[in-house]
Amino acid sequence: MALSLARRGIAATVIEKRTGFGELGAGLQISPNSGRVLDGLDLTLPLKRVAVSSHGLVIRRWNDGRALLEMPSHPERLTTPYRALKRNDLHTVLLDAARAMPNIRLVIGRGVDEITQDETGVSTTLTGQNGQWESFHGLGLIGADGLWSRVRDLSGDASPPVFTGFEAWRALAPARATGTPRVNLHLGPGRHAVHYPVAAGHQTNLVIVRRASEAREGWTREGDAAVLAQHVAGASPDLRALSAAASGWQVWSLFDRKPAAMARGRIALLGDAAHPVLPFLAQGASLAIEDAAVLARLLAQALEAEGARGVPAAMAAYATTRAARVARVQEASRSNGRTFHLGWPLSIGRDLALRRLGGDGLSRRYGWLYQWRDA
Ligand SMILES: Cc1cc2nc3c(=O)[nH]c(=O)nc-3n(C[C@H](O)[C@H](O)[C@H](O)COP(=O)(O)OP(=O)(O)OC[C@H]3O[C@@H](n4cnc5c(N)ncnc54)[C@H](O)[C@@H]3O)c2cc1C
Repeated sequence: MALSLARRGIAATVIEKRTGFGELGAGLQISPNSGRVLDGLDLTLPLKRVAVSSHGLVIRRWNDGRALLEMPSHPERLTTPYRALKRNDLHTVLLDAARAMPNIRLVIGRGVDEITQDETGVSTTLTGQNGQWESFHGLGLIGADGLWSRVRDLSGDASPPVFTGFEAWRALAPARATGTPRVNLHLGPGRHAVHYPVAAGHQTNLVIVRRASEAREGWTREGDAAVLAQHVAGASPDLRALSAAASGWQVWSLFDRKPAAMARGRIALLGDAAHPVLPFLAQGASLAIEDAAVLARLLAQALEAEGARGVPAAMAAYATTRAARVARVQEASRSNGRTFHLGWPLSIGRDLALRRLGGDGLSRRYGWLYQWRDA
């Protein structure tokens, strides 16, 4: 968000609660819809050094790994490829670019605690880990603080996240010598797995999602490899071998949450804070990046036309512009969650439908998603 603003000449301060940026052991697929935004920020080259351009998607059966559908992608023909990379690497690329902008200030180790707004702007109280605090004033505040957003709570929408009954186990394995880099999706009863190469092809990111009886709040906890081995006991030999080679398992309980009002006066919400997306379409980070592009454009237009007075209207326009798309992506992710995890005999119908649909059919189905461009 800060980069999108700064590139349009709007000074931004990033407030991050944690004392460091970065996330180990987790990969991200960045599809062309948000990849175009990153390219527009001149990040193509740094991304090329760390990301892998995917050559497509293969959907497989859980128990024997047989392919149900193959959707090829041709990165050499695309201006913006379908990228796969480590979350940590994306953070580093963004952070390096932000540090190079004189109109971005980074405040690390301070969390937004209190907010008040009036017709001149927004005041926030930031609290640090040792209890020290400072106050901060700006023309507007953009809450990009994730699923458990404090800004969302403070701006009046405290409807709680709801546990989905699923958890995601994520780890990295050494790279596999298996030809063209692709995203692999394995569908099983009450579980699925996704793996793809990251770190410029040196590592494989592996995610296993399974049903779970209890939720744990928060971002992550460590997972026991022996427990994971039981979860994949009935999987194909390939998937079991990949799981055994992976290390550093981290477990996320998966929560869903109703979309929030994305704008209230001079306060806007963005990404998971506004509309958390279940990871069954790999779009949460992409939507956050799209949000940022749209909001920055509208704010820049408003500031140029009306000065600081235009901020609330720009934020309201952002909420209106994004509403239908984020709702559609949220619903498409939920729908994938329902079909991915079907058990026998419903899974037979699903597998048949996937075979009939084929790669071209799937590609057409998601045209609306991946071909998105900001106005
Ligand atoms: C298993 C799994 C796989 C996924 N795979 C993909 C994928 O392939 N592609 C994809 O696009 N998405 C994927 N996602 C979704 C994606 O991870 C999220 O949608 C994305 O991280 C949301 O970004 P965000 O910036 O909105 O929030 P977050 O990434 O949660 O970042 C919020 C930030 O705000 C900070 N913060 C919190 N509270 C405060 C406060 N009070 N003050 C200051 N700072 C604060 C936090 O420390 C954090 O750094 C996946 C998710 C999961 C669980």
